[in-house]
Amino acid sequence: MAHNPVLDRVADKMKQALRDQAKASVEALAGKAKQAVAEAVPAPAQPSPSRFAAGPAFRSTIPCSAAAKDRALVILCSSGTFQRQCHEFLTAGLRLDDYDLVAVPGGVQWLALPDILPKHHKVARWMTEYLLRKHSVRRVICIAHQNCSAYEDQSTLGTLAHMVTGKSTFEHQLEQLRHVGNDLTSLFGVGVELYYAAVENGDVVFHSVPTEKGV
Ligand SMILES: [Zn+2]
Repeated sequence: MAHNPVLDRVADKMKQALRDQAKASVEALAGKAKQAVAEAVPAPAQPSPSRFAAGPAFRSTIPCSAAAKDRALVILCSSGTFQRQCHEFLTAGLRLDDYDLVAVPGGVQWLALPDILPKHHKVARWMTEYLLRKHSVRRVICIAHQNCSAYEDQSTLGTLAHMVTGKSTFEHQLEQLRHVGNDLTSLFGVGVELYYAAVENGDVVFHSVPTEKGV
């Protein structure tokens, strides 16, 4: 059969077009496969560059976590005597993964006496308001504790006020917990839980304090 040059050229062009199409399809499939592999296998973590010449003094076993939603703010006394028990209560008892913390001598005492301790109140109010707004805190936990030297040490004006009223340290602590709790709720619309850490038979126990007296 005689060759028709025109048909031959058309046939060649069709073959080339088919080869080009097949090549493009293979390259597209290869690209998709490469992307799928890249997505399935995470890139090895790059170590953070250290700004210190020596290695770390300690490496925590607790990984860095993202800021929790609905984080709680805890206001308590800075005394080291009850710190481990308070942390256990907050994490094991109240099941908080993490929490913001304001720890100052006397805890809520700094927020409770704006007339007698105005500078303390100003600082404590700033810290509390900042954390509530910055971290969208909706839950506040205030803890007072037995034998708190910030209430019993006669060197503070707050303690002198307690002596003038004739009320016991325990009565003042509960009054101030309630006062601060109600203030925080009315000012910032947050839920407040109040607790008192006491020593009973050698154990540290945490009693819930109602926000209203006599409840
Ligand atoms: Zn204390």
